[in-house]
Amino acid sequence: MNSFAGPIGGAAPIIAEKAPMIDPFGRAVTYLRVSVTDRCDFRCTYCMAENMTFLPKKDLLTLEELNRLCSAFIAKGVRKLRLTGGEPLVRKNIMFLVRELGRHVQSGALDELTLTTNGSQLARYADELYDCGVRRINVSLDTLDPEKFKTITRWGDFHKVMEGVEAARKAGLKVKLNAVALKDFNQFEIPEMIRFAHGRGMDLTVIETMPMGEIDEDRTDQYLPLSELRADLEQQFTLTDIPYKTGGPARYVEVKETGGRLGFITPMTHNFCESCNRVRLTCTGTLYMCLGQNDAADLRTALRASESDDYLSAAIDEAIGRKPKGHDFIIDRQHRKPAVARHMSVTGG
Ligand code: SAM
Ligand code: SF4
Repeated sequence: MNSFAGPIGGAAPIIAEKAPMIDPFGRAVTYLRVSVTDRCDFRCTYCMAENMTFLPKKDLLTLEELNRLCSAFIAKGVRKLRLTGGEPLVRKNIMFLVRELGRHVQSGALDELTLTTNGSQLARYADELYDCGVRRINVSLDTLDPEKFKTITRWGDFHKVMEGVEAARKAGLKVKLNAVALKDFNQFEIPEMIRFAHGRGMDLTVIETMPMGEIDEDRTDQYLPLSELRADLEQQFTLTDIPYKTGGPARYVEVKETGGRLGFITPMTHNFCESCNRVRLTCTGTLYMCLGQNDAADLRTALRASESDDYLSAAIDEAIGRKPKGHDFIIDRQHRKPAVARHMSVTGG
């Protein structure tokens, strides 16, 4: 039986407040990204150092607490929720949280529940994700070459990820592939990845590397401006800008030769902060109002202070009132230090 289509058990229906949360710059905050764990079964070289120190397990919110926090945001007008990490599917019992949050999709309080994953556990979870109400997922894939995949992820198994992608498609999930554009690594492989993705009905989005957290390598060696990549791609493809939007920062083009969509996420060369609609919650209950700034709000204390959500709701309002105008990411030889000390795996990208 498809339990998602079945009766709702237990969850109180959420009546969203009429107006969405509005930040000091007039932007409505309708999108919550939740890093459910900072741990991961890969060690992608642009994301993590090989020897990472992770948060102590005792500091993590329980899945019940994460559910309560997410539900408070939904009650305050969040319409889209993405689970990420670290690798969200390596968190123990994660499907409990997915199923609980899926109820808000069913009730209509949430437009979309989705996740970003490295795909390693998808073969196991794809059917259940669909059953819980997930309809679209992003899978990170930086190369189609199994050897290069090992190099970039250090610990990943390309074939397992491919099995995961196939399982997801079979389960009925719409899959978008995300590739971080890396100079001299996958720079010249993107055309093949476009054909691969579009040949299977999947969108592909390319992302610029962002200077987050200390890694073992020099980011200036990895950074590839997407303006340069686009110019290269235009040598062999006809790219037409299209107004397609998925609620994220990607700008899309249609590739005439394949008939598919290609997204560009360009935090470095084209700052998209003016239309930012999101905030990011970590697995310890810290809310970051901007991916590229250090200011944060501790929601764990507010959550644990009272069984009623009033205190939490006030703490969320106070945090949204501090959402900054934007980030100041720079990667060049003069700026070798990361713009923010935390790794992408803490806030989930
Ligand atoms: N583990 C999951 C995955 O890899 O999809 C979810 C978390 S991962 C931090 C989310 C996305 O951030 C991935 O697409 C990854 O490639 C990207 N990412 C990680 N570090 C990055 C960085 N420094 N700059 C740009 N993108 C980064
Ligand atoms: Fe893990 Fe995702 Fe970071 Fe790779 S990008 S190390 S899969 S969290």
